[in-house]
Amino acid sequence: MAGSTAPRIGVLALQGDVREHVLTLRDIDIDAVLVRRQSELDHIDGLIIPGGESSVMDKLARIFDLFDPLRRRISEGMPVLGTCAGLIMLANNVLDAIDGQQSLGGIDVDVRRNAFGAQVDSFEVGVSAPSIADTPLAAAFIRAPVVERVGPGVEVLAQLDDGRVVGVRQGNAVGISFHPEVEGETRVHEFFVRLVAEHVASAGRSARR
Ligand code: GLN
Repeated sequence: MAGSTAPRIGVLALQGDVREHVLTLRDIDIDAVLVRRQSELDHIDGLIIPGGESSVMDKLARIFDLFDPLRRRISEGMPVLGTCAGLIMLANNVLDAIDGQQSLGGIDVDVRRNAFGAQVDSFEVGVSAPSIADTPLAAAFIRAPVVERVGPGVEVLAQLDDGRVVGVRQGNAVGISFHPEVEGETRVHEFFVRLVAEHVASAGRSARR
């Protein structure tokens, strides 16, 4: 995918496991753009919001004057993939948020933070996600959120064996509770890059460039 036709994928680089996403994209021949300011946001075709700590990422997005530009691009249909804290950032409604915590929104779901317990309760498991991959995805759950309500326009992408929803999509916004990028799992990123490429082919590149 190298060269001028490759979609330009940004990784929101305010906080969290930015490096792991950059390396996973490199594994599939994509050079990621680090996004810390609006000028960088304006030049990408799709954005990954990494895992980390959603309440901190929210504060930093506002301090860096990125909160409203991010909301605008997401509402305009820019493809976005949120993993773990990134899913929390994309949820229209966050349960167990800290006081004053906001999300960008984009996916009509209720997401509960830290639903699987503390850092010590982290686990690795195969996650079934038939529209992303034929065989279960390798996934790490680290203080992960769970999706407790799925709105009418939202597609369930991934579930645990017990039925809990851990991956959702609404339009071009995709959110997953878990971390494929720490497992050497590239198929979620490949799925996302295809989504971005299709969006560029149908909608064209951002007019701001
Ligand atoms: N519990 C974290 C939060 O609320 C998310 C953890 C993660 O991204 N690994 O943001």
